[in-house]
Amino acid sequence: MTPSSTSPLTPHSPNGLAAVEQEIARACKEARRDPASVTLIAVSKTFEADAILPIIGAGKRVFGENRVQEAKGKWPALMQDYPDTVLHLIGPLQSNKAKEAVALFHAIHSVDRPSICEALAKEIKNQNKAPELFVQINTGEEPQKAGVAPDEADAFLAACRDKYGLTISGLMCIPPVDDAPAPHFALTAKIAARNGLTKLSMGMSADFAVAIQMGATHVRVGSAIFGAR
Ligand SMILES: *Cc1c(COP(=O)(O)O)cnc(C)c1O
Repeated sequence: MTPSSTSPLTPHSPNGLAAVEQEIARACKEARRDPASVTLIAVSKTFEADAILPIIGAGKRVFGENRVQEAKGKWPALMQDYPDTVLHLIGPLQSNKAKEAVALFHAIHSVDRPSICEALAKEIKNQNKAPELFVQINTGEEPQKAGVAPDEADAFLAACRDKYGLTISGLMCIPPVDDAPAPHFALTAKIAARNGLTKLSMGMSADFAVAIQMGATHVRVGSAIFGAR
């Protein structure tokens, strides 16, 4: 990858951000939705501060990272300068990272098993924090992928609430790469609706417009903003 320059076409320029925002506005109009009902999470994983700063400079304050350790290396300094930053953890979480995750992130999209629920409940209490929580649904039932199986989702959500005292805001999914995403988004929306959950974290660079059509409230977009990883 070439180093960033002042050319308006470098991936690090805010042009990708503007294009994604325009596409979100278009998708919202088509779906007759208020653009304010969709939060764009700029996924900055693998990118360093020099690539993130132009996006902050363009006014963006909501970012996503998929690794606790990587986020710890770059975000505390950036958040000191931009304290209104909102940081989302979108990748899998290990129980032994729950303490750091609750300390750093405002939202966690990858709640998917009892050990994580237990660790999060403990840290939320100890640190007196209230991160927004999403339960990840493995809609494609892929063995290698994190997330709760669709037919176990209702029971898991009940356990989050009743056994662990967690407030879950919504659901997250990552459709299998080779599938059409719409049925996966629809299934996620259906599980959310029957459980009274209003937030839907779904849609990435390739399919966020479809996700908005299916009710996404949070789209997680990386490469369309920052360039290829
Ligand atoms: C990397 C990542 C994204 C963003 O993917 P792009 O295709 O670059 O937009 C979204 N969600 C999760 C969970 C990710 O890990």
